[in-house]
Amino acid sequence: MTHAARKCGVCGKAAPTTPSDHTLISTNYGWRLSRSVAADGSLLLMWRCNECWAKFQQSRTP
Ligand SMILES: [Zn+2]
Repeated sequence: MTHAARKCGVCGKAAPTTPSDHTLISTNYGWRLSRSVAADGSLLLMWRCNECWAKFQQSRTP
């Protein structure tokens, strides 16, 4: 199983530590894990903290 680094890919803030899995970071702290494909075809996983996610959402919304 691939694990993303547990820090925000935008601002670099460290993710909250949770006892078990990534789901808790999302549900309890509002972090979001996004997937994208790198230029070489490998899968990239990037976390966004709740603040950066909100900005990202706003930037996508007209
Ligand atoms: Zn951030």
